Amino acid sequence: MNHLQRLLGALYVTTSAGLALTTVLEFRHGPWWAAGLFAVASLVPLVAAVRESEPRAPAAGPRLRGVGTGADDDVVRAELDAACCEPWWTSCGTEHDVTCPRRVPRSSAA
Ligand SMILES: [Zn+2]
Repeated sequence: MNHLQRLLGALYVTTSAGLALTTVLEFRHGPWWAAGLFAVASLVPLVAAVRESEPRAPAAGPRLRGVGTGADDDVVRAELDAACCEPWWTSCGTEHDVTCPRRVPRSSAA
């Protein structure tokens, strides 16, 4: 926990204490709904403080180390290995290049 996180945690606790004090004042002198509202509001900074203190998972992003070793990379590699020629990609698999070995000549297709 660094300095900024400690400061933020102290701010959360101070805000919660202020709202709790307002809850007491509203309970004694104000309408009941205001006391309930401030009671619930005084819990929100505490929830934030607890969440702030929890360790965080590393952010998802591009992996710079170990590129090409994950399961998703295996799927992509298998799809690229199964790919054919460029017209096959651009026509969603309905056409092939004239030099492609998987091409079926039009004369024998129909
Ligand atoms: Zn092809």
